[in-house]
Amino acid sequence: MRSTSSLVTAGLSRHEAEVRLAQDGPNELPSGHGRPLAVQFAAELMHFFAIMLWAAAVLAWVAGLPELALAIAAVVVLNASFAFVQERRSERAAQSLSALLPRSVNVRRDGQPTAVEARTVVMGDVLLLAAGDRVCADADAIVDHGVRLDTSMLTGESEAVALGPTGRLLAGTFLVDGEAEAVVVATGGATRLAEISTLTSTTRRPQRPLTAELNRVVRTISVVAVGVGLTFLVVSLLIGTSREDAVIFAIGVTVALVPEGLLPTVTLSLAIGAQRMVRDNALVRHLDAVETLGSTTFICTDKTGTLTQNRMVVVEVWTPTTGASIAGDGYGPAATVDLHGDDDGAVGRLMRVAARCGSGRAVDRDGEWVSFGDPMEAALDAAARRCSIDIDTDRQERAELSRFPFSAGRRRMSVVLAATAAGEPAEVVVKGAAETVLACCRDGDLVRRGAAAAAALTDRGLRVLAVASRVIGPTDSAPGDAVTAEQDLTLLGLVGLVDPPRPAARDALQRCRRAGIKVAMITGDHPRTAAAIGDAVGLRRPGIAVIEASDLPSDQIALGELIDHDGIIVSRATPEDKLRIATALRGRGHVVAMTGDGVNDGPAMRAANIGVAMGRSGTDVAREAADLVLLDDDFATIVDAVAQGRATFLNVRRFLTYHLTDNVAELTPYLCWALSGGRFPLALGVMQILALDIGTDTMSATALGAEPPTPTVLDGPPVAGRLLNRTVAWRAFGLLGPAEACISMMAFVTAFLAAGWRPGDPFPDGTALTGAAGAAFLAVVFGQKANAWACRSATEPPWRLDWSSNRLLMGAAVAELVFVVVCIAIAPVAGLLDQRVPPWQALLVAVAAAPAVWSVDAAFKRRRRGRRVAGTRT
Ligand code: ATP
Repeated sequence: MRSTSSLVTAGLSRHEAEVRLAQDGPNELPSGHGRPLAVQFAAELMHFFAIMLWAAAVLAWVAGLPELALAIAAVVVLNASFAFVQERRSERAAQSLSALLPRSVNVRRDGQPTAVEARTVVMGDVLLLAAGDRVCADADAIVDHGVRLDTSMLTGESEAVALGPTGRLLAGTFLVDGEAEAVVVATGGATRLAEISTLTSTTRRPQRPLTAELNRVVRTISVVAVGVGLTFLVVSLLIGTSREDAVIFAIGVTVALVPEGLLPTVTLSLAIGAQRMVRDNALVRHLDAVETLGSTTFICTDKTGTLTQNRMVVVEVWTPTTGASIAGDGYGPAATVDLHGDDDGAVGRLMRVAARCGSGRAVDRDGEWVSFGDPMEAALDAAARRCSIDIDTDRQERAELSRFPFSAGRRRMSVVLAATAAGEPAEVVVKGAAETVLACCRDGDLVRRGAAAAAALTDRGLRVLAVASRVIGPTDSAPGDAVTAEQDLTLLGLVGLVDPPRPAARDALQRCRRAGIKVAMITGDHPRTAAAIGDAVGLRRPGIAVIEASDLPSDQIALGELIDHDGIIVSRATPEDKLRIATALRGRGHVVAMTGDGVNDGPAMRAANIGVAMGRSGTDVAREAADLVLLDDDFATIVDAVAQGRATFLNVRRFLTYHLTDNVAELTPYLCWALSGGRFPLALGVMQILALDIGTDTMSATALGAEPPTPTVLDGPPVAGRLLNRTVAWRAFGLLGPAEACISMMAFVTAFLAAGWRPGDPFPDGTALTGAAGAAFLAVVFGQKANAWACRSATEPPWRLDWSSNRLLMGAAVAELVFVVVCIAIAPVAGLLDQRVPPWQALLVAVAAAPAVWSVDAAFKRRRRGRRVAGTRT
């Protein structure tokens, strides 16, 4: 073990660190090369839909329709440009998100432990590393307390390893066990990690579930589109249509059905969701998590920091001979201490030992006392100062020989302190959860009294630590492992700490209940302390007992049944228990969010659907395993993120409905034409469809993807199920689509009537036909505009919504209307689309598409509300 206090250096001075930072540059990896922009754009031209459209263009060219071929090619390029811009926006959003992840590291500068940003670490800095920390630069260990490293990022090896003979810690590895101090020898681009990451920066990320599902949806739709297109080709040839027309129809149908803009719109919508979440302090580490969060049905939360403020304060001390109450706030030394007549100095000795047994400190930062390291250990340090113990001098005079760091399994830690010149002997000091320390003590009577005192303190909701020690004789050798160190101890006393509940927790829990989300507290703390906090924030349901993790059933099914209730508290839980609970709940069909802060919480967080880590406290390991990082550590933030997740999921559904509705209106003319055996003229040509898809659909769809969450988004159970569910399909294909299609065909026929055509006559062509086509086109445009507003809410008709709350949609409507005027009134463009301004009677019918869509939508929503009230959810 590399562990000699003489090696402990004061580190660099702040000034020296600044000079070196200016000289060597920040400790950052050189930015990855990524794919060149041209390659990214080319990919947009070559994906699945684009290839289908290219094939259609080639077919049109071969069939002797060069204008159509060129138009389709133009659509592919326009679409690709749109998708490219959206992807870049999403990428930039994702990058700016990851830049927000706090990367602070502990170093010693000017002899003081201090937290600095990882990017400001320089050569020669002394890193202070504890279990769970990510090593941020290559460094040589000068102190090694049982370090074990996860080097999988560099070597792919998942087994944790001890430090090698060189004592070199490499950037990118994690401490999974132990503590270390190490002097930085290489930063940023000079690290081994930089070398490796340049090699691997081109590796592609695996596909996420939402992306996979979306790909499935669009592929299915595309296959259907091609199938229908081919059927039309065959039917039209069979009924004697010219080859040219048959090809046009087949292409028209296929193009009408292909949802080209869907994928980039979904990505952008998720990115917008993620950006909104980060404004509420919830940082998602990959975009798909936005959607998964929305479907969360069970939140397993820990206690410290999430439900409580993680501002620990020692308020009560117990020793076998006396006790003390301390009244003080924060981490400063000022306090009122009542020593209850502590004649033999037992309280002082207890506090001195407790403060030395750990690395957290209360530090004076420019006049303000703050915690450094573990807030609980910092609270012990502050309490020692409050009891007038000169703990800084103690640290200088009494060296630390070795330490056996805290582990969630042992729930205690120990430090071996050297003998002092003043005659104090060397000793092992131990602190930890009361029952685990008492189990290592020898005096039976003292242990019994200690246990009773601990029970009294936990009953008051305090977190209780027991502190014990053993003298090491001058001839005895220092213990080499935790088991030898932590035995045969003498109890020195107990320390009771409070950690006030977060004020927002109670309200957030109520919101979870309204939203049909169950919440369980899974904590490593004592059952009584957990119960007190559970009651204080209103988490525990009346009559529900706290379950001790050791009593959990070993059978996974029984475990799932036991835990699957709102307001459950599991105490003294280990990371393994959390893992089992997450798996059992998922087995019961829950979408589980699991918080974690410890070094071993990674597996449980990954086993849950959403791993949640703390941005301020907690370990780098947990943050790395998380899907969601709470920048303020607050439970309420999880609930806000769930609300935004739900809103985003609804938005994706919204524009899916919007896209699909217009497909029905675009397909209907082809169906009428085919069913009439070619006698009923085609109301919408391929060029018109392309204009509708590009000009009017993409902008509104993007705007729908940015719809803000409604205040009622958390009222009622999570939006479950697939994106394309029965309600979406019924609304688009059964109601809104047919309504829009009917009006469009009515407008088409009205134009003929206005031109003198009567039923039974053969349909005229020429200006009558182009005017009718213009009417059909305008009807779809007006129908879609109304549809966009109708899709904004799943329950309210458009006129009840706040018109100004989605300005993007307003902008899209204006831009699209301008586009439409160009398409229909500017002669060359209208000529290309084979349409013209329709007669006023047909125009009136076309405009009526808007109220028609709204009426159908309002009737659908009214009926749905009625069924909900009657208790049948759709
Ligand atoms: P919570 O749900 O409150 O966040 P946790 O799951 O993080 O709790 P642990 O950190 O595993 O709980 O702590 C479990 C117990 O171990 C605590 O109740 C305390 O008694 C003891 N303990 C925690 N940290 C230390 C430490 N640094 N030194 C000694 N004992 C500790």
